[in-house]
Amino acid sequence: MLSVTEAAARIRGRMTRIGAEAVSIWDAGGRVLAANLVAARALPPLDLSAMDGFAARAADLPATLPVAGAIAAGHPWAGPLPAGAVLRIMTGAAMPDGADTVVILEDAQVDGARVTLPASRTGANVRRAGEDVALGAHVLARGTRLDAGALALAAALGHVTLEVARRPRVAILATGDELVDVTVEPGPGQIVDSSAHAVAALVRAAGGEPRYLGVVRDDRAATTAALRGALDHDLVITTGGVSAGDHDHVRPALAEAGIELELWKVAMKPGKPIAFAVAPSGVPVFGLPGNPVSTMVAFELFVRPALLAMQGATAIDRPRAPVVLPDGYDKPAGRAHYLRARLERDGATLVARVHPKQGSAMMTSMIGVDALLEIHAELTRVPPGTIVPAILLEAR
Ligand code: AMP
Ligand code: MG
Repeated sequence: MLSVTEAAARIRGRMTRIGAEAVSIWDAGGRVLAANLVAARALPPLDLSAMDGFAARAADLPATLPVAGAIAAGHPWAGPLPAGAVLRIMTGAAMPDGADTVVILEDAQVDGARVTLPASRTGANVRRAGEDVALGAHVLARGTRLDAGALALAAALGHVTLEVARRPRVAILATGDELVDVTVEPGPGQIVDSSAHAVAALVRAAGGEPRYLGVVRDDRAATTAALRGALDHDLVITTGGVSAGDHDHVRPALAEAGIELELWKVAMKPGKPIAFAVAPSGVPVFGLPGNPVSTMVAFELFVRPALLAMQGATAIDRPRAPVVLPDGYDKPAGRAHYLRARLERDGATLVARVHPKQGSAMMTSMIGVDALLEIHAELTRVPPGTIVPAILLEAR
């Protein structure tokens, strides 16, 4: 059986880049930059005071000098710093010509219209023009996912619109005769299609735009038709029906729809019966296993990186950290196990609290989880206290 690493590499190798579009900076959060941003402005644009205090010439200090006026942020002083005087200055206000230092208010002794200032280093408490960003600097590279910091920087540089990767439109197709929509009270033998809601949320978090196509019955022809109908999206996700059961129609339906199977079954638990295929048009199709936890783990390991790669993101892999597994874990060799866990800090180490219900149908095991612990395929006995790798999921 394919290892998780091999499967991930094969899938990554089949992803092609999606096109770009210009969006308002207000809508650009979470999107991936499609062009390098070069600074058309310096930041700060001119020398600014970093503190509330007095703008002075370092060469004049220490001294008791008259205060010739005040400079507030947004109100530059007209003309130079008067000779033999200082100016009151506020944080973010432009330094007047001739001033090269700011003495903070706390270090000044004010006496009416005069102030006594100690010696101060040239450049103290001054933000130099261009010290953050020099004019013409390459500040944000293509492939950067726009987070709060990147958006603030882009705004400071005057980008009203940003060139970003288009959001991949992702079709979500559930399979299963037992499934009903969330709006329906399940009858005997029925359950709600809950995975669709997990997948939609995960697609959004990975920068995609989910489109729910509903539930397709466990029927070969219906599944084939639904798959064909979904191919006008950028990526297709099916859930369930991908094992080897009598009513698992996804693989044969892929074949009938002319969508070439690239891989099926990966040495992992949960999530083993994942299928990946590519349509002749290049649209990738993920057949995710049906149990909601398997669906989510398989998405995390394979679909999230695929969606980010499509958008040209450079940082794709989640951070990993070594964590202590206090209870240990036993398993047969052969498949990598992914345990849902909550991390707690104990001094300098992270300790994993593994959710007690690890069954792939246990939806409660995905609540409050911050990490997936990876127990390597070849391991059988993990003694209590062993350090294992944890994939760190988004903060709660
Ligand atoms: P399957 O792989 O189709 O045999 O599904 C495996 C298990 O997952 C079965 O118990 C299904 O009822 C359940 N399941 C499949 N799809 C979904 C879904 N979309 N939402 C909730 N449970 C599902
Ligand atoms: Mg099924």
